[in-house]
Amino acid sequence: MTETRASERGRYLTTQFDSSSEVRLVPRSADTTRIISEDPLVVIGDTRYEGAPCFLYLPPGQADTVFVDYLDNLRAVARWPVWSHSPGTPPEAAFSIREIPGKGKGMIARRAIKGGELIWSERPIYAARRTLTCASDQTDANGIFYRAALQKLSAASRRAFFELGSAYPQSEFDVVPGILNTNCLEISISDGDSPGDHDPDPHDSFAGLFPTLSRANHSCRPSANYYFSVRSFTGQLWATEDISPGEEITITYTPLTAPRMERRAFLARTRFFLCSCPACAIPTSQAETSDRRRIVICELLARLQHTQYPPRIPKEELEQILEWAAAERMMVEYAKVLLFGSQVFTLYGEREAAAEWAARARSAFRMVEGEWSHHLSR
Ligand SMILES: [Zn+2]
Repeated sequence: MTETRASERGRYLTTQFDSSSEVRLVPRSADTTRIISEDPLVVIGDTRYEGAPCFLYLPPGQADTVFVDYLDNLRAVARWPVWSHSPGTPPEAAFSIREIPGKGKGMIARRAIKGGELIWSERPIYAARRTLTCASDQTDANGIFYRAALQKLSAASRRAFFELGSAYPQSEFDVVPGILNTNCLEISISDGDSPGDHDPDPHDSFAGLFPTLSRANHSCRPSANYYFSVRSFTGQLWATEDISPGEEITITYTPLTAPRMERRAFLARTRFFLCSCPACAIPTSQAETSDRRRIVICELLARLQHTQYPPRIPKEELEQILEWAAAERMMVEYAKVLLFGSQVFTLYGEREAAAEWAARARSAFRMVEGEWSHHLSR
């Protein structure tokens, strides 16, 4: 048994993707999957034990997306009305995907892009709960489980998947989990305006892989915001500032409220690169100023976000913090300061300031998350 596994493992690792031909992602002999429903198509990932994660292929009949989760949750996901709607045509690409020295591929603006513009939107081709339990012989090194998940995706989605790169060492990560770990972005399955009535637990963490959005590189002073719209089940890219032709379009892979050293350590650990973005490459004295501002913004949001009775904070203090958020290009945090600030003013009877800040918060969220931002529906 062990010997058979070893030789099978060898075959997985040497499987090369050839976009011109159909790829058998999993050799028949190792196939422990079984179809349990045809419409929508649901496959149990491992028939050898009860409660194994399953693969749901969506939308029915097209299989452009595979959703990987436990069966109970997938039953709920399959009922979401969103699958009967088209995700809409993405905007005409205002960027090209180009090789960027030292960074691999990245997104370069082809024309002037205005702040607040929707740059791109698409559905993930792979969506999954972040923590799934698999059998011990299904590892990242052999990628058996993830390869099985891709097996019934449409040929176009599979091709798009294998066009992405893996930053992980091939000795430890088969190319499929390598690509997933390198490129997945956070997605949410509920935002209070969810697509279905019987949603999985909204507090669990989910990730999605997007063929085009995954090309956006990181900066701690990003020019765009990645937003996941539960309503249309699409990942969206919103310009958070005016972007000139030839400039790179960037998003953040790390919380921007962290100081430079923490951000760099996080990126090195999770993405295998030392960040040398404009916010990280500045001299130490300037970096200290930037760090101090980010820490203040972080502390303020923590004070305001999860409390029913936030403390009274003077308007001048909040204006100062807003200015710092704008200077650091932390535009989502900027919108949040406005929103929570308006709630503070409401609570303490400052009606005029409350109305003004609520209006500013709406326009700030519209800019970074669009008209359908869940922050605007509240
Ligand atoms: Zn950086």
